[in-house]
Amino acid sequence: MSGFKTTLINCQQCGRRIMVRAADAERGSITCSHVGCGAVNVLQSAFHYDENIVLGLAGFGQLTYLDNTKTTYPLRFGVNVIGTSDSCAVQVSRFVHNGRCFISRRHSTLTVTFDKWTGQLRYQLQDGAVDSTTQTRQYSLNGTLLKDTLLQKTEIIDVADGEVITLGGLDRFRLTHYSIAPAMLNTYKVELAFNPDRTQ
Ligand SMILES: [Zn+2]
Repeated sequence: MSGFKTTLINCQQCGRRIMVRAADAERGSITCSHVGCGAVNVLQSAFHYDENIVLGLAGFGQLTYLDNTKTTYPLRFGVNVIGTSDSCAVQVSRFVHNGRCFISRRHSTLTVTFDKWTGQLRYQLQDGAVDSTTQTRQYSLNGTLLKDTLLQKTEIIDVADGEVITLGGLDRFRLTHYSIAPAMLNTYKVELAFNPDRTQ
């Protein structure tokens, strides 16, 4: 509750004004002090994080190739097209199995955004990539899997820290999230209007 300012709310039971101090906010409730009321107002802390925090981050996570964990691919903020083409933000090697490469030139898209409510980065995976010329989505030839489940076309799915993405059925990559340190996060906290939630 850094930077908390004393504020007035209306009691949810009697409707009269009560003062919320930092200690009440930290406890998450306040007892109405008006005679004959005494209702416990549950406080919902309302805040989010300023998305400008992403400008100062040291990284945005990475993919690690599981057949050779020395091979890592850093991610950028925003859209990361993954594939063997040099037009991809994440250009992977043409990994060959029995003389064939199963990864498409533009195979999947991993989009990194900032979730201002949790204060952490969010990673969303989709098969294929948008073709810059036609502006239509082209799907991979051999599919994208998350935790061994094939993504359906047009499906967009959240990838948790440490989960494994498989491209083309054989090449596996572990996603490592970039975790924003709590100390840094605190300095980007924005307190919003403080509203009582309900009474008990
Ligand atoms: Zn009251």
